[in-house]
Amino acid sequence: MAYLDNAATTRTSAAAIDAMRRVMEGEAFANPASQHAAGDAALRALEGARREVAACLHARPSEVEFVSCGSEANNQALLTGAAYGAREGRRHIVASAIEHASVLRMLDWLASADGPFGGGFDVTLVRPNEKGVVSVEAVKEALREDTCLVSLMYANNEVGSVQPVRDACRMCRKRGILFHTDAVQAAGHLPIDFTRDGFDLLSVSAHKFHGPRGTGALLCSHRVAPTSLVLGGAQERGHRAGTANVAGAAGMAMALREASDALEANKTQVERLREQFAARVSQIDGVHVLGPADASLRLPGIVALTVDGVDHEPALVLLDEAGVCVSAGSACAAGAVETSHVLSAMGASPEVARTYLRVSIDASENSEQDIDTAASALAKVAARLRGGAR
Ligand code: PLP
Repeated sequence: MAYLDNAATTRTSAAAIDAMRRVMEGEAFANPASQHAAGDAALRALEGARREVAACLHARPSEVEFVSCGSEANNQALLTGAAYGAREGRRHIVASAIEHASVLRMLDWLASADGPFGGGFDVTLVRPNEKGVVSVEAVKEALREDTCLVSLMYANNEVGSVQPVRDACRMCRKRGILFHTDAVQAAGHLPIDFTRDGFDLLSVSAHKFHGPRGTGALLCSHRVAPTSLVLGGAQERGHRAGTANVAGAAGMAMALREASDALEANKTQVERLREQFAARVSQIDGVHVLGPADASLRLPGIVALTVDGVDHEPALVLLDEAGVCVSAGSACAAGAVETSHVLSAMGASPEVARTYLRVSIDASENSEQDIDTAASALAKVAARLRGGAR
């Protein structure tokens, strides 16, 4: 099987599994809030993981809050920004039109009449250019006197475009506007410096860099008081209730350390595989690679394609039959593939968006053989579907 859906999730690394097993089987299995030696051991493991995650992302340990996933981190970041806005009497939020659903759905809730903090927040969604990049100028134009929060993802999950988050953040900070970046696809793949770049809020998710699913972190600057999303006990310094997932945190810390140490080597390897794939698919009629051509403006691992005249739903089935796992955007509740809001925002027609496929490559998962298998399978599938047969 050629697994080329690493942007959806990655295989958990052996070292991350070992780190989790050590917690679950060893001394640190207990509740870190418990007032006994076993609890102390769990607390030490949890705080060690927090220090490691902070070090990898260049944040202070006290700025790292463990959460259950990237979606939760995004939800809480937006809630925190909205709470700040409500306190300041500023109820306008700016985000890009290509954010993940966990940002966009939360914005819908904040905008609705029965949303949190009185609801009725005004939301402006900024469109990207045809390559999937949002400009700082476009964000600037969207800002108003009453803007409290800007949420701009570090890198997009469907086309891999990297956004100008550093400059956008600097501009927002000067105006007293909180800045959140969803770095779920970037963490472990691009260097992130939370302190130097002055982010207020940043979301990560362990399963995108070979950590376990169901573990993430919200980085919240010491300048900002996070608003709780999960209410109950006083875990995570009172900002997130729920008995801590110590094993998950340990697995995440290990995976992030491995990814951070291998960042440059992995990038070089993935770029090489990407070039190989791009060269092969350029020989197939009607295949277009989307996103920025400039390597500094894209995640190396995500190759977004449209294939003229080839509907992605049957293509996914046939590729799967050929042992190739790729994706075509998010699956809706009924299991069908939804038309990508990212491609729509980039100006693609619904007909073109229906031919979108995402191939996501990973340094430790994939080989030249996988690339070869995927490119050959895609050529056959395109020919077969264009011929009308399935
Ligand atoms: N943000 C982005 C950009 C993502 O790609 C994803 C997952 O695909 C998420 C947020 C949500 O992360 P999680 O699956 O951990 O909730």
